[in-house]
Amino acid sequence: MTKIAKLFRGRKLWVGFLMAFLPLLLTLVLQFFWLRRLERTSEIADKAILKNFLEAVTTEVLYAYGPVAERTLDVPSANFTRDQLERSAATFRRSQVEGVKVLFVVRFEQDDEGTVLFYDPRTESMEPPPPSDEARAVTVACAPWRLMNDNGIEIDSPRLKVEERDPENRIILNPILDETSRVVGVAGMVLDTAWFRDHLLPATVKALIPRFFEGENTGVVVSVRDERGHLRFATDPPRADREDASRPFSFVFTDWRISVRGGTMTPEQWARTSFAFNMGLSLLAGILLTRVMFLALRTAAQEMKLSRMKSDFVSNVSHELRTPLASIRVFGELLHLGRVRAPEKVQEYGEYIETESRRLTQLIENILDFAKIEAGQKTYTYEIADIGELLDATLHTFEMRLRHEGFALTCERAAGEDLRARVDRAALGQAFHNLLDNAVNYSGEARRIDVSAHRDGNAIVVSVRDFGIGIPRDEQEKIFDRFHRVGTGLVHDVRGSGLGLSIVHHVAAAHGGRVTVASEPGRGSTFSIRLPAWDAAPAEATRAGEPAETPPRAEGEACPRS
Ligand code: ADP
Repeated sequence: MTKIAKLFRGRKLWVGFLMAFLPLLLTLVLQFFWLRRLERTSEIADKAILKNFLEAVTTEVLYAYGPVAERTLDVPSANFTRDQLERSAATFRRSQVEGVKVLFVVRFEQDDEGTVLFYDPRTESMEPPPPSDEARAVTVACAPWRLMNDNGIEIDSPRLKVEERDPENRIILNPILDETSRVVGVAGMVLDTAWFRDHLLPATVKALIPRFFEGENTGVVVSVRDERGHLRFATDPPRADREDASRPFSFVFTDWRISVRGGTMTPEQWARTSFAFNMGLSLLAGILLTRVMFLALRTAAQEMKLSRMKSDFVSNVSHELRTPLASIRVFGELLHLGRVRAPEKVQEYGEYIETESRRLTQLIENILDFAKIEAGQKTYTYEIADIGELLDATLHTFEMRLRHEGFALTCERAAGEDLRARVDRAALGQAFHNLLDNAVNYSGEARRIDVSAHRDGNAIVVSVRDFGIGIPRDEQEKIFDRFHRVGTGLVHDVRGSGLGLSIVHHVAAAHGGRVTVASEPGRGSTFSIRLPAWDAAPAEATRAGEPAETPPRAEGEACPRS
């Protein structure tokens, strides 16, 4: 079973998780649809901004020419007689116009050719034009009006007209009417295309870009193409493959088109990117939240388990203390009152009292040690010791119990091996004791324990093997956790505190070593403590002021046997 599946074995946690997770999932789904909608809206909005921008540019161009032309070309109709036409110079002189090549007036006369006069700003007078492109353009532009004059056609109200047949000499005309609404002439201006392209367009575009775009979109590119599609103006080299919006000019230069490309991304790309970004952000937040929820639930599960284990611990320990104490009291009383006389019974009860007292001492020692470890106050006093001797000493304290319970102990040790290590005798002795105690407790019907101590390269390995109930594979890591007891099978028959192995683990780690287990349910377990050998780390020990050499064990030294 996977860890997660195990975590949710309790239904309550499942419900808790689903209650927190389902709203989160719903929020994410809603967020998805909302962002999809937002994506479409923002795409449309972005396009609208680009279109509005183009409209603003063309409107500015209209205002740059329209009102100026109205003012400048407002020549009194009284001037349009043969003698008075030159007086039009006074009107032109007053007005300051930019972007105009020529200001002119044309008087139509039914019985003669009429008169064309160009304003000369240097002499501030009206002069007949020399043959030129401008003069020809004026003649062409005036032809329809001349025709109207010839035919005596009346028109309602004069309005500015734009004549763009010659693209290099575009003309704005103001038809002049007499009191009978007949066209008697025109006042006009020939526009300077270069000024439009080089001054008016750049200035207008430059002024409007900051008003429409900011941040991401300041990279917009504006370009203008003429009637033949030739590029006439661009804020940056334009890219042929992309134009987000485009439109013609509205008053003059109506055959030119202005286009705009928004930022580095098209509105579609922008909308898609922002959708992806927002959705990604939401998903990330969702994942983080799920993770936090999961961690919170796991912590809750762990806390629940820990508190359950603690209460088990309290009841187990009370039992462990109470039962032997009761027996000790009864046997003590019997001995004290002299009710037991037979020497073998006295010896038996005495032995029992001794063994049980040892067990109690060991249990209390475990509890005190555990408290110190938990509080971070456990200290170790190291000295060089022969691990074999230490193991013998521990086995010795077990002799009686093993004998009583009918265990056969084998102790294997290769002769002549240097088993010295830098250890805290008491702590390591207690670790050995805990392993042996477990071997006895969890042997079930089996009555055999093998103990060995030997060198493995730079390490000394002490193993305790039993042939008892064994430990399921998925429990083998957890048994070193404090309070943890395997919750299945024959373990229930054995009372315990759940502290022994966690202390062994701590002691081994404090010695720079580790404890491992190999076990198979029903076939027994082998616990091994691996410690660095003294001769593998001489520098450290010398520093600690210990002797650098101690003679190795004498060959063939025996282990105590039961
Ligand atoms: P306890 O006081 O319960 O023995 P320990 O920390 O010593 O506490 O051991 C933790 C658990 O590991 C035990 O409750 C038992 O389930 C399991 N265990 C330890 N040693 C053995 C062993 N030799 N054989 C089978 N199970 C063992």
